[in-house]
Amino acid sequence: MQEARNLPNSGTDLTNLRSLTHGQLLATLSELGQPAFRAKQIESWIWEKGATSFDQMTNLPKNLRAQLAEQYTLGGVKQVAKQVSEDGSRKYLLQYEDGTTVECVGMPSGNKLAVCVSSQAGCAMGCAFCATGAAGLTRSLTSSEIYDQVMHVRNDFGERVTSVVLMGQGEPFNNYDASLEAMRKINSADGLGVGARHITVSTCGIIPAIKRFANEPEQYTLAISLHSAVQRTRNALMPGVRKFSLMHLYEVMGEYVDKTGRRPTYEYALIRGVNDTEDELGALCDFCRDNLAHVNIIKLNEVKGSRFQPSSDARAGEFVRRLANVGVEATIRQSRGQDIDAACGQLKQRLGR
Ligand code: SF4
Repeated sequence: MQEARNLPNSGTDLTNLRSLTHGQLLATLSELGQPAFRAKQIESWIWEKGATSFDQMTNLPKNLRAQLAEQYTLGGVKQVAKQVSEDGSRKYLLQYEDGTTVECVGMPSGNKLAVCVSSQAGCAMGCAFCATGAAGLTRSLTSSEIYDQVMHVRNDFGERVTSVVLMGQGEPFNNYDASLEAMRKINSADGLGVGARHITVSTCGIIPAIKRFANEPEQYTLAISLHSAVQRTRNALMPGVRKFSLMHLYEVMGEYVDKTGRRPTYEYALIRGVNDTEDELGALCDFCRDNLAHVNIIKLNEVKGSRFQPSSDARAGEFVRRLANVGVEATIRQSRGQDIDAACGQLKQRLGR
C-alpha cells in the first residue's frame, strides 16, 4: 500500500481550472489582460504535462501564476491506495476533492501500457456479478476526472499510455457527454495522443446511446457487455438493461456496423453453470454469426463470497472453437491482476469506501 500524496489546493472554495472550457479559459485570461496564446500554454501544462501546481508552469509570467493561484485550484486526484500484481498491473483507488473515490488499473505489456478507467463513482446498473453494481451509484464523473485517472497511471508508470478502456466502474453511456469529452482529450494531440482505435468504451447496451455513438466521427472502439444471448439469463445477470431486448440490441448493432464499418467487441464473462451451457453457447453463436463481431471471452475473477464461479479453461476454449466454426473471431482475455483486487469494485469494497 502506498502513501497518499496531498491534493493541490484541496479543501478551498476556489474554482477548479480544469473544469473551464477553452472559451471560458480565454475569457478569464482576457480579463487578466493576458494574450490568447496563454490558454494553449496553460492547457498544455494541465492536459499534456499533468501539472499539479501553478508554480510548475514556468513559461507563464510569475504574476499570472500568482493571480491564477488566488482564484483557481488545479483539482487532481489523491491516491488512497495502490496494489501491484505479480504480472505488473497496478490497481489504484483515487479520491477527488469532494471525497468521492474511484478505481482504475494500469496494465503493462511489453512496451505497451493499457489503462482501464471508471466513468462513474459506483454504478446504477446492478449487474449480478459485479461488486460495484451491488453498492449502487454515488455520482457521475466529470470529463477531467475521467482524464485524470489516465494521467495518474501514466505518471505512476512514467510511460506513454498506448490504449484506454472505459470499462471500470460505471456505465459510460449513462454519463455520455463527459465520457466522450474525456475520450476526445485522451485522443487529442494536445492531450495524451492515444489513437482513437485504441480507445474503447464499454456499455451494457444502452440502445439510444449506441445510436448516438454511431454518429460520432472518431474511430473509437465499441464494446458491448453481452454476457448472455439468452434473454432470461441476461435479464437476471444484467437487470439494468432489461428494458432493452436482445432482439433490439441485435438490430441496433447491425445498424451501427452498417453506419460505421467498425467491428464491435462483445464481452462475455464465462460463469460456470450460468452462461457456459450448450444452450447459451448456441444462442451466442446465433447472435454473432453473419455479423461483424469480435467476442472477448473473459475468465471471471474469483470474488470472495460471490455465488458466481469461473468456467474451466477447457470450456472457454470450446467457446472459442465453436464461435470460429460460425466465422466469428473470439479470444480469451488474459485475466490480469488475479493476485490483487483487480475486478471492478473489489478494492473499494475491501477498503470500505
Ligand atoms: S459490470 Fe459495469 S455496468 Fe455492470 S454494475 Fe458493474 S460497473 Fe456497472
